[in-house]
Amino acid sequence: MKEGVAIVGAGVVGLSLAKELAKTGINVDVYDSKGDVKQGAAKASGIFSVEGLARTGIQYKGAVVNALDGAKIHAGGELFSVSSRSTKAYVLDRGIFAEICADEAARAGASIVLGDRVTRERVLELKKDYRVVVGADGAVSTVASACGFPPVNEYVLTYKAEYEDAVIEDAHKVELFFSKGLTTRFFGWTVPYSGSKLEVGIGISNRKGASSYTAFRRLLTNPDIKSMLKGAKMSAGYASIIPIDARKKTVIGNSLLVGDAAGQVKATTGGGIIFGVSCAGIAAKCIKKYIDNGIGLGAYEEEWRKAFGLDLRLHKMLHSYYSALGEKRFKLMMKSAKLMGFENFLGAYGDMDRPSLILKRILFRGSI
Ligand SMILES: Cc1cc2nc3c(=O)[nH]c(=O)nc-3n(C[C@H](O)[C@H](O)[C@H](O)COP(=O)(O)OP(=O)(O)OC[C@H]3O[C@@H](n4cnc5c(N)ncnc54)[C@H](O)[C@@H]3O)c2cc1C
Repeated sequence: MKEGVAIVGAGVVGLSLAKELAKTGINVDVYDSKGDVKQGAAKASGIFSVEGLARTGIQYKGAVVNALDGAKIHAGGELFSVSSRSTKAYVLDRGIFAEICADEAARAGASIVLGDRVTRERVLELKKDYRVVVGADGAVSTVASACGFPPVNEYVLTYKAEYEDAVIEDAHKVELFFSKGLTTRFFGWTVPYSGSKLEVGIGISNRKGASSYTAFRRLLTNPDIKSMLKGAKMSAGYASIIPIDARKKTVIGNSLLVGDAAGQVKATTGGGIIFGVSCAGIAAKCIKKYIDNGIGLGAYEEEWRKAFGLDLRLHKMLHSYYSALGEKRFKLMMKSAKLMGFENFLGAYGDMDRPSLILKRILFRGSI
């Protein structure tokens, strides 16, 4: 007999959904191919807005390694600095964060089965055995391909490395490097973990057909990066992938997708946790209504798009805009934004996740 919910993927998003469902008394089984929830977590960076983290309801504090108060953006020799008086974001240890999420899900009553890779054939069996099957299985989703979900239109291929003994001028700022000479439709970055430990990374659109490691080697020749890494030692390096476009459909029959599997990611930066976990919260409510009252799962599609569709589209528009700019026009745009006082404005009113809120603040300030 069909019972409960199967979630494929014990990443942060799948585990958050498992916790929310188990709290309502629904039987939840999570399956993941990795043998340990921490495995592979360090492939991604861990920058999360303070406000976004608070909205997730995850007890993340034990995973914080650093606090950020702004960003320095480099393009064509121009520097744009955004600085806030308060902490805007935290850098989390992704492995510890994953363990916290697994612990919260297990304590709520979810069963987490590790070392179990789910094949396409198995997805179809799970659809018969469970009331609902959720694909929370990341960027290259087996659930999505087994159930016939539409494709993701664009991915960013990434490479990031961690360095000890780096020269870090300001340990509370990320630095972003936009340059057509370095990469395509994305950027390079540095994230300080402490006064001396630094992450350096880059992303490149899959449309380019080039390797992220080659782009990374190019980034290391940038003079600013070179001076940060003078005498530093690389301790780890990882390649990964980010979907930067939501799938056109995220519910088919009794299967649905959340997180990276659905493409619920900010196209501007590749950040996916805050939106993914928020959409998992919506999925939990809709699955509960489906199981208890027979209300169709299509409500999930409608509700997450209503709550976050506009912001994800704005991220997509901003991504398309900056990707189309040549070096000179990018520089000009930064100069104009500086002249208009945007460095201070974003320091005071910037929101990493929700550009719609920034727009509202601009319109509100304009109208008074
Ligand atoms: C370089 C980089 C930097 C990033 N920086 C940030 C950042 O600073 N802030 C932010 O918010 N986001 C960031 N992201 C994005 C963020 O990591 C993802 O959005 C997030 O991990 C998505 O979570 P998820 O649970 O949906 O998927 P995942 O974390 O990918 O988890 C999917 C899980 O499914 C499992 N799985 C996959 N296939 C199967 C299968 N067939 N059977 C069983 N298990 C399976 C995997 O083992 C994995 O555990 C970054 C990503 C990268 C690559």
